[in-house]
Amino acid sequence: MSFQVSGKVAVVTGGSSGIGLETVRLLLEQGAYVAWCGRDSGRLQDSWETMAACFESDRLYIQCCDVLNADDVKQFIEQVAQRFGGVDMLINNAGQGKVASFEDTSDEEWIREVQLKYFSVLNPVRAALPYLRQSSIASIANVNSLLAYKPEPHMMATSAARAGLLNLSKGLSKEFVAAGIRVNSILIGMVESGQWQRRYLDRSDPDQSWEDWLAGIARKRGIPMGRLGKPVEAARALVFLASPLSSYTTGSVIDVSGGFSQEI
Ligand code: NDP
Repeated sequence: MSFQVSGKVAVVTGGSSGIGLETVRLLLEQGAYVAWCGRDSGRLQDSWETMAACFESDRLYIQCCDVLNADDVKQFIEQVAQRFGGVDMLINNAGQGKVASFEDTSDEEWIREVQLKYFSVLNPVRAALPYLRQSSIASIANVNSLLAYKPEPHMMATSAARAGLLNLSKGLSKEFVAAGIRVNSILIGMVESGQWQRRYLDRSDPDQSWEDWLAGIARKRGIPMGRLGKPVEAARALVFLASPLSSYTTGSVIDVSGGFSQEI
C-alpha cells in the first residue's frame, strides 16, 4: 500500500541519525520531497550522501539548524518552501533524553530539558504554519515517548517534559483542526538508535557485543517482545501519521514500544 505522499513535501527535524534518518529514507522511498536538519554538519552531510546515493538529489534538501534557535528554524523552513513550493508534513523528531534522577537534576538542567521538549516542537510548528495552512494534506507528527504516561525515576525531567509535550500535541490538534492540519504523536519505548550507540560506548563490559548488550537491556527492562525497536519501526508509524493514510486521525498517539506499555 502506498503512503500517498508522492510529490508532497516533508520536513524532518533531526534527520541525520536514528529514527529521523529512517523517516527521511521512507518518505523518499514513497516519492516525497524531503528536507531535514541537524546540528552537526559532518553527520548531516553524511546522511545527505547516503540518501543521494539512492534517490534523485533534487528531492533532497539539508540545512544545518538547531531546532532551539527560532530564527534558524524559520530560515530553514522558508528555504524548504522556496525550493519545494510549500510544506505538507512536519515531523518533529529532533532531541534526546536526559538520564538523571530528581536529586541529580539541577534547576538549569530542568529548564534545558523542558525547553528542548517544548521548543523543539514550537519553533518548527510556528515556522511551518503558514505553509501547512496552504496544504491539502497538512499534518504534524511528533516523536514522543512512553515516559509521557509512565515516568521513570532515572529520567525524571525527561518524563515530566514528555507528559507536557503530549498535552501540547493534543492542544495543537484542537487549535489546528479548523485549518485542516492534523497533529499526532508516536510514543516510543526503546529504539536502538544513536542515543543507545552512545550509551553502548560507555558499557561496563568492553568485551560485550552490541547485540548482547541490547538483549541484556531488553531482558532487564522486561520488554515483552524481547528486543529494542528498530529505527525503521518508529519511522513507519511516523510516516503513517504524517501521511494521508491517517486522514481521519488527529490528537492521537501510536504506541511503538514492543508491548512495554502497561496501559489498556
Ligand atoms: P539519534 O541520536 O540517533 O538522533 C537524534 C537526531 O536529532 C540527530 O539527527 C541529531 O543530530 C538531531 N538533533 C538532536 N538535537 C537537535 C537539535 N537541538 N536541533 C536539531 N537537531 C537535533 O536519536 P533517536 O533517533 O533515538 O532520537 C529521535 C527522537 O526520539 C528524539 O527526540 C529522542 O529524544 C526520541 N526518543 C528516542 C528514544 C530511543 O530509545 N531511541 C526513546 C524515547 C524518545 P545532531 O546531534 O547533529 O543535531
